[in-house]
Amino acid sequence: MTEATTVPLTLDGATGEGGGQILRTGLALSMVTGRPLHITRIRAGRPKPGLMRQHLACVQAAVSVCGGQAEGAELGSQTLRFTPGAVCAGEYRFQIATAGSCLLVLQTVLPALMLADGESKVELVGGTHNPMAPPFDFLERAFAPLVRRLGAGLELQLKRRGFFPAGGGEIVASITPARHPLAPVDVMERGPLLNGWAEALVPGLARTIAHRELETLGQRMGWTFEAGQLRQTAARQNEGPGNALITTLEYAHLTEVFCQLGERSLSAEQVAKRLSDEIRAYQRSTGALGPHLADQWMLPLALAVWQSGQAARYTCTEVTPHTATNAQTIALGLPVQVLITPVERAMQVEIRPAG
Ligand code: ATP
Repeated sequence: MTEATTVPLTLDGATGEGGGQILRTGLALSMVTGRPLHITRIRAGRPKPGLMRQHLACVQAAVSVCGGQAEGAELGSQTLRFTPGAVCAGEYRFQIATAGSCLLVLQTVLPALMLADGESKVELVGGTHNPMAPPFDFLERAFAPLVRRLGAGLELQLKRRGFFPAGGGEIVASITPARHPLAPVDVMERGPLLNGWAEALVPGLARTIAHRELETLGQRMGWTFEAGQLRQTAARQNEGPGNALITTLEYAHLTEVFCQLGERSLSAEQVAKRLSDEIRAYQRSTGALGPHLADQWMLPLALAVWQSGQAARYTCTEVTPHTATNAQTIALGLPVQVLITPVERAMQVEIRPAG
C-alpha cells in the first residue's frame, strides 16, 4: 500500500446538508482509493442523526465487497471507522431490512465494483420505490446509460417491485468493469426531445388511482392514452401495495426520469400535479441533467477524471444542497476539483484533476 492510500479520509458528517450521502460517498471513495475512512457527526443535519438501518445496510454491503472492517456500525452511531480491504468482484446478495432502498445500497458499492478486476452480480432485496431514494426506473433508464458511456457495463434487472413499508422488492445489477481506464464524457446538452411518456404503478391498489393520475398528468403535459404516452403498468405477483407515477423523457443525448410516490394523505390529482411541476421545472432550464441525476452522476464522472487525468463537464438544472455537499465530499476523497458555475438558465459542473 502506498503512503497516499494509508492517509485516512476524515469526513465531518455535519458538512453541508449533513445527510446520509456523506456516508455513502465516503464508503465508496474509501473502497476505490484504499484509504481508511473516519466519519464523525453522521447525519447531524437530520432529525434523527446517526446510522439508521438503511445506512447500516450500506456499511455492511461495503464490508462484504472489500472484506473491510467497520467500527461503530451500530444503529444510532454517529461515528464510523471503516478500513477497506481489497475489492473482490463476484456474486453478492444483500437483503435490506424494513424496506430500506436497494438502490442506495447499490449506489454505495457500484463505484468499487466498476473498478474491480472482474464482473459482479449484485442481488438486492428491499425497497425499489422508496421516498427520498432513486427509484429503479431512474437508475435503469437515466443513470445506467450514462455510466455505460464511461466504458463500464451496468445492466439492471427488476424482478419484483418493493414499496415502503412492506419492501420485498428484488433487483439484480450486473456490473462489468471497463477494460481501460474510465473515459470521461461531457454532457452539456439534452438535445431534442424524442419521446416523452408516463406510467402509473398501483400494485395492490385500485386501478382508478392510476387512471386519475395519468389523466391529470396528461391534461397538464398534452399527453394521451391513445398516443401511448400514458400507460398503466401491470403489477407482478406479490407486489405492493404501493403507488408510483413515473415520467420518462428521452432526449437525443440523455434520458431523464422523474417519479412521485403516492401517499395516503395525497390525492391522485395532487401526485400528478407534483410530477408535472417537477417536469416543468426541468423543462424551464437548459441544463442537461435534472437535480437527482446531477448529484448521482458526480461520483462516477469524478472517478473517470481521476483515472484518465482529463477534465469533464456537465450542465444541470440546479445544484441542490445535496449535490453541493457531494461535491465537497468527492473533492476530499479524490485528487479532483469540482467547480460549479452558473450558465444561462442552468448550472455547470466541471471536474478537473487536482494540481
Ligand atoms: P438521509 O440522511 O435521510 O439518509 P440522504 O442524504 O441519504 O438522507 P436524500 O438527500 O434524501 O438522502 O437522497 C438520497 C439519494 O436519493 C440522492 O442521491 C438523491 O438524488 C436520490 N433521490 C431522491 N429522490 C429521488 C428521485 N425521485 N429520483 C431520483 N433520485 C432520487
